[in-house]
Amino acid sequence: MSSDKIQKTARMYALQNAIRFDGNANVKAVVGKVIGVLRKDGFSPREIIPIVSSVVEEVNNIQLDTQIAELEKLAPELLKKEKKERDFSLPELPDAEKGKVVTRFPPEPNGYLHIGHAKASIVDYEYARMYDGKFILRFDDTNPENAQFEFYDVQKEDLRWLGVEWDKEYRTSDNLEKHYKLAEQLINQGDAYICNCSPDVIKEGRFHGKECCCRDVSCGENIDLWKDMILSSTEGTVLRLKGDMTCKNTAMRDPTLFRVIDKPHPIHGSRFRLWPTYDFAGAVEDSISGVTHPFRTKEYELRDECYFRLLDLLKLRKPHLMEFARLSIDGMPVSKRKIKPLIEQGLVTGYDDIRLPTLRGLKKRGILPEAIKQFVLSQGISKVESTVTFGIVEAFNRKLIDPTARRYFFVKDPVKLVVEGAPSKEKSIIFHPTDKKLGSRTIKTGKTFFVPKADMEKIKTGDVFRLKDLFNVKIKEKNDTIFAEYAGEELISESAKIQWTTDDFVKMKVFVPHLLFEGDKYNPDSLETVQGFAEKAVSTIMTGEIIQFERFGFVRIENTDNQVTGFFAHK
Ligand code: ATP
Ligand code: MG
Repeated sequence: MSSDKIQKTARMYALQNAIRFDGNANVKAVVGKVIGVLRKDGFSPREIIPIVSSVVEEVNNIQLDTQIAELEKLAPELLKKEKKERDFSLPELPDAEKGKVVTRFPPEPNGYLHIGHAKASIVDYEYARMYDGKFILRFDDTNPENAQFEFYDVQKEDLRWLGVEWDKEYRTSDNLEKHYKLAEQLINQGDAYICNCSPDVIKEGRFHGKECCCRDVSCGENIDLWKDMILSSTEGTVLRLKGDMTCKNTAMRDPTLFRVIDKPHPIHGSRFRLWPTYDFAGAVEDSISGVTHPFRTKEYELRDECYFRLLDLLKLRKPHLMEFARLSIDGMPVSKRKIKPLIEQGLVTGYDDIRLPTLRGLKKRGILPEAIKQFVLSQGISKVESTVTFGIVEAFNRKLIDPTARRYFFVKDPVKLVVEGAPSKEKSIIFHPTDKKLGSRTIKTGKTFFVPKADMEKIKTGDVFRLKDLFNVKIKEKNDTIFAEYAGEELISESAKIQWTTDDFVKMKVFVPHLLFEGDKYNPDSLETVQGFAEKAVSTIMTGEIIQFERFGFVRIENTDNQVTGFFAHK
């Protein structure tokens, strides 16, 4: 047991020290602190030092933001005292000139945006602002299999909610004819060819580094084939870059530049059937739209060579391509590809399910756009892939809402409590202990109350506890109903303070999200429904307000047709 206490104390002070010094705790400093704190408990330095050393090592191996999140849970008071304001500004861009930086965010209009898109768009937007530059919103909609009409507007709404504003907006699909011309230029130069091998043969060739016979067809013949392809589009025919089939970088083994997709496009209908791949469209658009510093996630790193080769061959300006790590969050699907099947299979309630990291899901559970922004900037633009815990987002959000969220009483799994001798009162209780401006409500009380079952299970007959902000009661008899007697108003410091409602309550549900995945496995218990009674004043809260249910957590309220529902944000 004793080593547990050392371990716990060491963890707290190691975290505190690490947070003060950019994530790296100093063993000597922590040892000194822990010895000081535990001296009165009779621990000797001999017992303390080895434990502190190993704890410091553990703590130094976790990221600063995770350290902050953990200390916030473990001992928030240590964090408050010691937390330095962190500087979340982004590092300078290479070759960047004030007024001349152009960035872009290129979503594919095929789903709702998630917190990974928030990372990309906020980084792009912030850099444009940092350099008084320009920020472009570009819909990369050149795959009619994916693009859907509704998502152009939906994604714009999501970005506006985030606070991201763009200077220019356009669709890549509107430039398709320009892309055709550039492709023709490549064919004429002998740098691209039409290939009608089957996908399997192409794959095989790439794997073994073998060229196919389509590569030997003359430019003239290729141009004819190309024109045919535009007009009548034979299924299975593709345009490929003449790269290098033996290149170590397999992305250079004659990548596909255009392919036939015989599906109507949400904007252009059936006007086009030949569509550029991401390799082609991405490089061409970044260049011709004047983007100076395009960001991509690191998984595209191998494709950079193709990006620059294409621009070289087309004699187009080369932007300063930048990369950052894809955002991954433990137990959450930060990818449209993973979110979509969950919705289709009914494993979540929709795109705004509070377990999802979609911007709509986050909004619904009461995560503020500002918290997302602070989180994203705290992650920076490192290329190191890592999975963070959602607790970091929660920590930023908590810091923002704690000073302004009104606090109400909520009683989970209510049990009836009858208090003999309780004086009738009209008690005015302020909504926030440190901000009187947030107002107060008046609660009429009599002899009947409701209190949380879990609290009552811990309390014995004869015990005294306090109905928070009201008076003390002493338990006389515990049955389905609990009988107690009035025990005065004086504050007893060590007695429990328990939330309550009168019999004039609001019955409500609070939905509580848990991690959707445990490892790779879907967690069927990821959405918990908590039933309870809330104090009457909760019925006047408007939809969208984020409040705190004391000792329960922060909750965003929806209030429609006289039905109040809560969505749990975090503790
Ligand atoms: P998804 O797997 O979510 O479909 P995607 O890359 O296909 O991802 P796009 O709409 O093409 O989605 O992405 C637009 C931009 O957002 C791209 O620049 C992409 O790199 C970036 N992005 C998408 N997901 C993440 C993420 N998890 N972390 C960081 N950036 C991301
Ligand atoms: Mg994509």
